[in-house]
Amino acid sequence: MTRSVGLLLTVDLDALRCNWQRVQARFTGQCVGAVVKHDAYGLGLTHVVPVLAAAGCRYFWVDTPQRGLAVRAALPAHAPHADVLVLYGLAGMSMADHAAHGLVPVLTSLEEVASVRESARLHHTPHRVAIHLDTGLTRLGLQEPDVVALLNHPDWLEGLHITDWVTQLSRFDAPHDPACLRQRARFAQWTARLPAARRCVATSAGVLAEPPLHGDHARVGAALYGIDTAPDHGQQLAVVATLTAPVLQVVAVPADTAVGYGGLFRTPRPSLIATVAAGYGDGLPMPLAQGGQVVLHGHAAPIVGAMAMGLLSVDVTDLPAGAVRPGDAAELYGTHLNLNSVARRAGLSAAAVLVPSASRAERRCTTASVPGVCTASGVLA
Ligand SMILES: *Cc1c(COP(=O)(O)O)cnc(C)c1O
Repeated sequence: MTRSVGLLLTVDLDALRCNWQRVQARFTGQCVGAVVKHDAYGLGLTHVVPVLAAAGCRYFWVDTPQRGLAVRAALPAHAPHADVLVLYGLAGMSMADHAAHGLVPVLTSLEEVASVRESARLHHTPHRVAIHLDTGLTRLGLQEPDVVALLNHPDWLEGLHITDWVTQLSRFDAPHDPACLRQRARFAQWTARLPAARRCVATSAGVLAEPPLHGDHARVGAALYGIDTAPDHGQQLAVVATLTAPVLQVVAVPADTAVGYGGLFRTPRPSLIATVAAGYGDGLPMPLAQGGQVVLHGHAAPIVGAMAMGLLSVDVTDLPAGAVRPGDAAELYGTHLNLNSVARRAGLSAAAVLVPSASRAERRCTTASVPGVCTASGVLA
């Protein structure tokens, strides 16, 4: 059998379950939902969804209706009912089709509200929906004049069974930022006068912050996948995603040898240079080539020279002699190389590094790395 030469993403399903339990144990509101947009942040929702469902997750948040259908398909037939909420609103699918497939759209405009009202009237049945209120992000949801209009026309909500009022904070990674506090105040003020429904505002950083920021229903993505969006909270999350790529060749070169396109790097000494099959075409951020590292056999080695579409060069001169061979797996982030620090080095958020690279990689699931260490509170023993 031939060895795979592409990127390999190892998804640790035990670590995912630990993070779910940790978030669940911290949360003081009514329910935690899992955000599985973009194919569960690139990890693959077909294996992420069943694990979360088995761990007790009953709310899944997706971007598009199509992804909602994929979540439905991934839920085991015998699983207890789970709500699937669609963040982009009706997004080209009718309310009747959403309802038929058990999808709850998060409505984003008064036009969508009107179309659901009309559908409920036609079908003589109320429709379950959430409604997005735009409290200051200017992205999706009802703006203040829309909210005022709703308050003046309560009949506009006839036939809508509202499960959640939703808002998204502009500084999702800094829930104490004054802009976020203003958004929360606006959200509280608006929802106090609107029909009662769960208030859904906290994302990962909000749940890891203190209880007054939790709200009724949390929408958590990053934390489940091991990304601490607010690292100052010191929450230790289990590493879920490890990305590796194989070494293709190792060459010994003299001092002052140009490495890679444009000769951007010249060896300062006689060096061992390993070529690794990973590049920007695999979704890796190009700035990683400046100051980034990989880990080989437990040793960090610097990336040198320019990153190509599918190749990068690593200086392995300081590794034990003979340690690195073609076929060895170089870790780009994961159990040995913290994704958050890799992202910081690239000047990006961890999700911005994870999603493009994980999405393109071949995926393999394991449950072996933290066997039996999930306690009820999700703490790693
Ligand atoms: C991505 C997203 C989330 C999840 O945020 P995390 O920081 O990954 O927990 C929640 N709500 C909305 C609207 C989102 O777009």
